[in-house]
Amino acid sequence: MLKINGINVFYGDLQVIWDVTFNVKEKEIVVLVGANGAGKSTTLKTISSMLTPEKGTIEFDGIRLDQLPASKIIEQGIVHVPEARRLFPDMSVEENLIMGSLTAEAKGKRYETMEYVHGLFPILGERKKQMAGTLSGGEQQMLAVGRGLMGHPKLMMFDEPSLGLSPLLTQQIFGMIKKINGEGVTVLLVEQNVRQTLAMCDRAYVLENGRTVLEGTGKELMDNEHVKEAFLGI
Ligand code: ATP
Repeated sequence: MLKINGINVFYGDLQVIWDVTFNVKEKEIVVLVGANGAGKSTTLKTISSMLTPEKGTIEFDGIRLDQLPASKIIEQGIVHVPEARRLFPDMSVEENLIMGSLTAEAKGKRYETMEYVHGLFPILGERKKQMAGTLSGGEQQMLAVGRGLMGHPKLMMFDEPSLGLSPLLTQQIFGMIKKINGEGVTVLLVEQNVRQTLAMCDRAYVLENGRTVLEGTGKELMDNEHVKEAFLGI
């Protein structure tokens, strides 16, 4: 479904991604794991066309994303739930959800989808008039996921959804991602929470210093000596 083929990405003169290659098949949960600064967020931003690769290609369902402007990415069925959530803090929960449904297709089914999102996250229905900036961290993450779902994604990309959340909320968010995947949405997840994400994913790639250095099923990587030492503290 998604093919990243040998991309190089720069911030100005500074190269941070080197020949990164990986793929995501329909209905999979694929995780990119790596330390701080490994290039995980940069990779997701490049798929969203916020950054343009200097070399290499990105294809989604046979369409070249690296030649499309960021505004067209969502129309392909890709939703990016960014790090730190990037909500509109002075808008209500309901208004934030509406902001997730701006494509023609999503607009037409807006209220039906909102019912679905309220079913997944009842708190978003209960708090629909509350300003997003006054929600707790966990509620804000639910709103960010809910806003993403309002766009009817085929592929959802999550950047560190567990950031700043308690272990219990982290478990709930991961459970929700599993559920969304079970309903047919393909997932690309970036996480530093390596143990839990390797346990829940189909496949994973390890990024180090902007390069893809290892790939395998979650189980294979959990048993890998380098992963154990570098990420699992074993
Ligand atoms: P983290 O989990 O800490 O967010 P990451 O794996 O997502 O790490 P990136 O945020 O992709 O890493 O950063 C990769 C490299 O690019 C880092 O060295 C970072 O300092 C650098 N970088 C990120 N954003 C910019 C920017 N806007 N300008 C210059 N360099 C940047």
